[in-house]
Amino acid sequence: MNNAIEEIEKNDIGKIEKDVFLSKYTTYRVGGLAKYIVYPKNAEKLVTLIKILKKNNVMFKILGNGSNLLFSDKQFPGILIKLNEFNDVEFIGNKVLVGAGYPIIKLSLLCAKHSLTGLEFASGIPGTVGGALFMNAGAYNSDMGYVVQNVKVLTPDLRIITLENKELDFHYRTSFFKKHPDYICLETLIRLEKGNKSAIEDLIKERRKRRVISQPLEYPSAGSVFRNPPDNYAGKLIEDLGFKGLRKGGAMVSEKHANFIVNAGGASSKDIKDLIDYVHDKVLEKYNIDLKVEQEFVNF
Ligand SMILES: Cc1cc2nc3c(=O)[nH]c(=O)nc-3n(C[C@H](O)[C@H](O)[C@H](O)COP(=O)(O)OP(=O)(O)OC[C@H]3O[C@@H](n4cnc5c(N)ncnc54)[C@H](O)[C@@H]3O)c2cc1C
Repeated sequence: MNNAIEEIEKNDIGKIEKDVFLSKYTTYRVGGLAKYIVYPKNAEKLVTLIKILKKNNVMFKILGNGSNLLFSDKQFPGILIKLNEFNDVEFIGNKVLVGAGYPIIKLSLLCAKHSLTGLEFASGIPGTVGGALFMNAGAYNSDMGYVVQNVKVLTPDLRIITLENKELDFHYRTSFFKKHPDYICLETLIRLEKGNKSAIEDLIKERRKRRVISQPLEYPSAGSVFRNPPDNYAGKLIEDLGFKGLRKGGAMVSEKHANFIVNAGGASSKDIKDLIDYVHDKVLEKYNIDLKVEQEFVNF
């Protein structure tokens, strides 16, 4: 790892943060130490960075806004890469070309300002564009798959290519990227429609109100824990078991929305993981439904 860091510094790849607790960069506010987080300045530097990491056999992972991740309490055994510098936005008629590190909430609000409709669903999703593409983030019967025209990616063999929507296998909370986590999204072209600015802004406001009422936004979490099973709601199954308010250490099943597990104060990753496993097993035992976790466990 030390050789790799020396080379990264020598090649002026971008900012390097050292010895960071992942509680700083995850919305659950938990997670062990990351020895290094690297912020490549641009795609060319990213390619050089990956070459260095591969040559030195250093494991790496892209970290978006950490809003769908549960890192373990252990030290992360590699390097994390944040694409904060990939944050250009360009409006081209009814389309917007945006970097993978751009926050999707900010993009949704910016599109509203440009009287463009289609991305209102994302106005409460606290991730980056890259993270939203990865898991095909969505809400209110829409998702990234409905609006993305194409995505510029870095392939595992370090070519930069553009993948069109039909190649990206967008389905409920999944995409090509989830099945190919060694591809890195660099930027995407999103296709929207002209709309009425105040109607778009009103819809965003109304949905924000609904989220505040129905979701425990006052606590750290990573959104819905489980995918909804066919013709059912994970939250309802968990609520019917009487699990609202159930705790393991500092982790708690939200009293507002049973499909949210929150860090109610001082939770460890283990507390959260244990509570997720417990809820999963009880739902299986009672209803014979094998709930699938929507969040990603890292380094467990
Ligand atoms: C309060 C709250 C509400 C939420 N509501 C919703 C909702 O309504 N709908 C919904 O779908 N989700 C929701 N989420 C979950 C989460 O915000 C989304 O899944 C979001 O898209 C994750 O983006 P991120 O940038 O935080 O990704 P991260 O959590 O940082 O990463 C997720 C995965 O994406 C990968 N990744 C990130 N960037 C890239 C890239 N550039 N290229 C390749 N891979 C990449 C990471 O390596 C990781 O595997 C919610 C979360 C919270 C905390």
